[in-house]
Amino acid sequence: MLHLGFCSVCGTGARALRSCGGCGAIVVQCDECDAVWTSAKVTAAPLFLKQPDLPCPHCAAPLATPPSHWATAEEASAAPWVADAVASGAITLSSGHPFGDNSPPSDSAASEAWNKVDLSE
Ligand SMILES: [Zn+2]
Ligand SMILES: [Zn+2]
Repeated sequence: MLHLGFCSVCGTGARALRSCGGCGAIVVQCDECDAVWTSAKVTAAPLFLKQPDLPCPHCAAPLATPPSHWATAEEASAAPWVADAVASGAITLSSGHPFGDNSPPSDSAASEAWNKVDLSE
């Protein structure tokens, strides 16, 4: 996943870019507490969408379930607000998860499993 670092709400999750399966919008969603921001202004108060579906603030499609998914780098760079925020230095995107070791394991079997986990997100 692509993330903006730790969530300011719960302090333990990653604020990651989520691609809506309904409208294709990119939002920022914490993978722990599900706080959502619809712009790069993550210092603003987040939205807390209705559990468990997390209806998209733009189209009401469920963000929690497929085809919604963690945004790819291509999807993120295609979203104007993300591209602008990265270009202006407002946000810095990192890949992987802010916890633990995100590097692929060295042996091939474990590496393959790691890639499958990565793709399933
Ligand atoms: Zn959070
Ligand atoms: Zn949507």
